[in-house]
Amino acid sequence: MFPDHDMDVATILAHLGEQPKNQGAVVPPIFQNSLFTFETTEALLHALEQKPLGPPHHYSRLSNPTLSVIEQKIAALEGAEACKVTGCGMAAITAAVTHFLKAGAHVVCPDTAYGPVRRLLSDYMARFNVSVTYVSGTSTDEIVAACRPETTLIYLESPSSALFRMQDLPAITAYARANGINTVIDNTYATPLLLNPISLGVDVVCHSATKYMSGHSDITAGAIVGSQKMIYDITMAEVNMMGNILHPFSAWLLLRGIRTLAARLPLHGKTADDVANWLEGHPSVAQVHHISLDSYPQRDLYQKMFKGSGGLFSFEPKDQSRESVLAFCDALKIFQRGISWGGFESLVVPLLTSPADYEKPRWVIRLFCGLEGVNDLKADISQAFDRVEALSATRV
Ligand SMILES: *Cc1c(COP(=O)(O)O)cnc(C)c1O
Repeated sequence: MFPDHDMDVATILAHLGEQPKNQGAVVPPIFQNSLFTFETTEALLHALEQKPLGPPHHYSRLSNPTLSVIEQKIAALEGAEACKVTGCGMAAITAAVTHFLKAGAHVVCPDTAYGPVRRLLSDYMARFNVSVTYVSGTSTDEIVAACRPETTLIYLESPSSALFRMQDLPAITAYARANGINTVIDNTYATPLLLNPISLGVDVVCHSATKYMSGHSDITAGAIVGSQKMIYDITMAEVNMMGNILHPFSAWLLLRGIRTLAARLPLHGKTADDVANWLEGHPSVAQVHHISLDSYPQRDLYQKMFKGSGGLFSFEPKDQSRESVLAFCDALKIFQRGISWGGFESLVVPLLTSPADYEKPRWVIRLFCGLEGVNDLKADISQAFDRVEALSATRV
């Protein structure tokens, strides 16, 4: 009834992986069980021999029907053969990254990658004699120059989540494939609706499904996406051993959230575009970092790789004093102060950024535009700037 090719993403989200209905239940029930039993010993032994990415399920650390529904949807959205969901995004990234590393290996990674990933590579993996070279990521030549004979992995995050810098995925993956180097990308910003890294040659795609995919700020979840063989190997090794699995109840909430992704994401994108364009002309703003702006320095790459943009962007205030940055964030009423993003609620977080090409660290204020009305969000930002101005006027 539902072929998994040529289907609109919204239809995949609504229906794929849900047939046949269990007793006609329109929402799949939660399989809240650790194991599955079999009528015969032969059937049990057969199940143990199967690839544990789908039925027959035998143990929930490896696979579970509630998780399988989501895995089929995410794999189809990414145009990939298989997906494994995990307990959070870092669980997915740690499993995928460590899969491609061994003692003495070398990794190339953008210096703007998600902080815990940099700590995994720099601090934790150093125990296993793994070394890492950080690059700006915006120059493919720099990435190629950083690769060594022992490089087994190029890690990618495009765009990054503070300065929104991109890597040229087709160019990098062409080089990596020709040189036997694996590639892993964190595709959390874009979701499969805006960017499909597999079609651009990336081996394994990771997601924090905590963000847009679940969309309601009520669970943590992650996903690893790739070929059947890679996802099977990662499941049997890292996921099976580290046990970083998603629990059925969280999976069921993820299923509820992900159904509306194709309706929510364009709204986040439209609101953020509107706010970012408006901020570009604001007298208190030095620079806006948003991938869909005409002024975005890597506009060619954006137009080549992306189908659109999301609700997350940042800006540099002209007044770079810590006091004013914090006062601005404190004055916001609808934007709440918090990390994460992708839910219904607008969020703000100040980030002191210092990539290698900055002479000194700069404050960027990262905004996530939730599902509130855009005029209310702009009014909130306006009154916060007014408040900062009034405060600095009393200071002089
Ligand atoms: C949140 C996030 C992660 C980590 O995901 P968790 O679900 O919190 O473990 C990884 N990468 C990016 C870009 C993120 O925003």
